[in-house]
Amino acid sequence: MSKKRATEALQRLQISIPNPAVELKHSSPFELVIATILSAQCTDQRVNQVTPLLFQRWPDPAALAAAAPEEVEEVVRPTGFYRNKARSIQACSRHLVERFQSQVPQTMEKLTSLPGVGRKTANLILGECFGKPGIVVDTHVGRVARRLQLTDKQEAEEVEMDLQKLLAKKEWSHGSSRLLLHGRYVCLAKKPRCGDCALASLCPSAFSP
Ligand code: SF4
Repeated sequence: MSKKRATEALQRLQISIPNPAVELKHSSPFELVIATILSAQCTDQRVNQVTPLLFQRWPDPAALAAAAPEEVEEVVRPTGFYRNKARSIQACSRHLVERFQSQVPQTMEKLTSLPGVGRKTANLILGECFGKPGIVVDTHVGRVARRLQLTDKQEAEEVEMDLQKLLAKKEWSHGSSRLLLHGRYVCLAKKPRCGDCALASLCPSAFSP
């Protein structure tokens, strides 16, 4: 049943969200890695306000790794937790320079060896930058998946494993992006917009999440 519901849900979301674009602006894998680290506890819109200046001043891993920490902190300050984030993006850049010749690696194992990069970010990079299947599980994807009863897990990695069993591999990247956008704009945490939801007729939580 879950598999059928998952397939039907993704077919419907394909119509309502034909282009599930990543909302973090980027022009390279490096920029998406850094923008994603900055997006923790922050909106994509806010991150998009600081990254143009950040990448103009420090356009590659070597430049960002060598920057004065207090200057990086100042630029990323609007994204919150700016000291930790500045430290994290500089450590990540240093790691890219020292271990990967300044290139963002293309495997889960190597990506998650980067400071500040977990499975969520790694899956995003794999799908968005390298066309490799990856299920991104953030708070939105987890919530939508639970409301659709595609999983009963809370931990992101366990949700990812459940979704891997239900979704065709070719759907992993775009499918999870669609679930994410659906959660961000329709299946809201506090007041889900079930009346406007394309999934309402198949959702076990419709009108009573
Ligand atoms: S019907 Fe409501 S609870 Fe179910 S996916 Fe849609 S918005 Fe979320």
